[in-house]
Amino acid sequence: MIDRRTFVGSALAGLAGWSGLYAAEPKKKRASKYIDVHTHIGTTWNGNKELTPKGLLDWMDVHDVEKAVLLPLTSPESSSFLLLTDPALKAARAHPDRFIPFCSIDPRTSVRGGLKGFVDVIQHWVDRGAKGFGEHKVGLNFDDPLMMRIYEACQEVGIPLLFHIDALRGKDVPGLPRLENALKSFPKLDFIGHGPGWWASISGDCKSLGSYPKGPVTPGGAIDRLMARYANIYGDLSAGSGANSISRDKEFGRRFLLRRQDRLMFGTDYLQPGQQVPQFELFDGLDLPATVQAKVFRGNAERVLKLKKTT
Ligand SMILES: [Zn+2]
Repeated sequence: MIDRRTFVGSALAGLAGWSGLYAAEPKKKRASKYIDVHTHIGTTWNGNKELTPKGLLDWMDVHDVEKAVLLPLTSPESSSFLLLTDPALKAARAHPDRFIPFCSIDPRTSVRGGLKGFVDVIQHWVDRGAKGFGEHKVGLNFDDPLMMRIYEACQEVGIPLLFHIDALRGKDVPGLPRLENALKSFPKLDFIGHGPGWWASISGDCKSLGSYPKGPVTPGGAIDRLMARYANIYGDLSAGSGANSISRDKEFGRRFLLRRQDRLMFGTDYLQPGQQVPQFELFDGLDLPATVQAKVFRGNAERVLKLKKTT
């Protein structure tokens, strides 16, 4: 289907001498439209404006984002206002071609029946359309027994899990041994990494999981080591932390995107109207081969989230 923007663009492109109209348009270098694996609808932080499904759709149309993953946030450490699973499912029911809902439950929630109870709750949401679990952003150690139970439940249901690591949530230490313990324990669960602690670990000299380090990346980071060793770990390039991991050392960042082209997914963490998102300009400027763009911008998400391929 041809959308309005494409139609207007191609209609104008057919007219000579109209290039002035393009002055305000960003230079088109994208080989494929995006699937954004990280957005939030609702009000996430106190003081923020609400992002409605309509507000998100309008923003997606401006930025070539064909589909967006809607992530709930259900832990008290994760945000000021909790974002529940039901609004994400509801928005996706209204716009099944544009929104991909995830589900989330805090591991400390009262659920009857232990592991089986968690499996039942997650399956309930999967039966109603959820394609993954997350954003998993919990103030516990990454491999705390309660966290491990969530991983076991997701592995059993068969959906990927998108997690956040920093100094307070999904807690680990440099080198990410707790994450490694989870990857090893649940080899059939696909983990998708996000957050300052995950992305600071791109560098071999990472000393803190709570920061946004600048400057050159040292080879031998935990991310490369884990990706080489485990088939079930992916990276979500969203937020300031994801953009910083590539922009802090663009030469390393570009080579990393080429080397891990089957493991990385485009994302923004767009969560309030008017939010500035660095990813579009950053990726436009990297001159990535079209085949790599197709994987990182959408193909990997389609495969890991088991979406129907549309291109
Ligand atoms: Zn987020």
